[in-house]
Amino acid sequence: MADPQLLSNVRALVGRQYGRVYAWDEVNAPMIRQWCETMGVDNPMYIDPAFAQATRHEGLIAPPAMLQVWTMEGLHANNYPPGSTDENPYEVLKEMEAYGYASTVAVNSELSFTRPLRLGEKLYYTTRLDSVGEEKTTALGTGFFVTLVMSHFVEQASGDEPVGELLFRVFKFRPANAQPQPEAPAPVESATAGPKRALPGISDDTRFFWEGCDKGQLLIQRCCACQTLRHPPAPVCIECHSFDWDTVQASGRARLYSFVVMHYPEVPPFDYPNPIGLVELQEGVRMIAGLAGVEREQLQIGQPLQVEFQTFDERLTLPLFRPVEA
Ligand code: ZN
Repeated sequence: MADPQLLSNVRALVGRQYGRVYAWDEVNAPMIRQWCETMGVDNPMYIDPAFAQATRHEGLIAPPAMLQVWTMEGLHANNYPPGSTDENPYEVLKEMEAYGYASTVAVNSELSFTRPLRLGEKLYYTTRLDSVGEEKTTALGTGFFVTLVMSHFVEQASGDEPVGELLFRVFKFRPANAQPQPEAPAPVESATAGPKRALPGISDDTRFFWEGCDKGQLLIQRCCACQTLRHPPAPVCIECHSFDWDTVQASGRARLYSFVVMHYPEVPPFDYPNPIGLVELQEGVRMIAGLAGVEREQLQIGQPLQVEFQTFDERLTLPLFRPVEA
């Protein structure tokens, strides 16, 4: 049974309207083109100005499914344009967390549209806490279905026009295997008890690699029949199909073949920005690994690297690569 105080607090929030969140940019052709490219959409209504001009819309329109795109914050969380509300439309979820309903899973999202958006239109949305269902028990746990509705408008001198809605529903729950919380709201979990790094799935084909890491050795699989090196580990030689293999210890010298720098979302337990390299070992095989001791600005394709081993959470040793002098 849910705490009566929680139910009372939640019911007081249902129906609440939250203020405007403005779009950074007006509806524009470059963003439409890039979105279509990314999504594999080639409808000329969206990307061919001459074609679009000849339609009843008399110009390019935005794909309806882009509705939410226009009002997104961008790379940095909660970075909305000036004038946007600083209210938190998800405050009801925080209320539930304080009573032990710690987990969230998105259930469904529905977009509905009134009309297509044209170039130059400027959007904002407001949010309404539409409903919170009765407490329910599912396979995941016990909790509440919470539904928010974001109503999107185009700003117009003659009066703002509704153009579409986004319904967003989550299940906010106490996991089935969790202990019930005491009466008082639970304290925020301590900073020292953060998540640990996920352990690798280890098989008979890959065990040698992780055992090598534990000993500070970077081991590469080698075909006994034709001597071809391979990584990641696999049961069969890609060149001669031999199942016989042994390993050689790599020198640890490598070059940066490519890289990404993860910025967002920031997922514990990793540090951000988080540079990850595709490195080419001196022996010729490539592997993906974290990069140590580098700034984004210093990363250069082809730069020399040296392996080092770091142990995380006192249970997982990983090879990382650090820039060295040529
Ligand atoms: Zn072979």
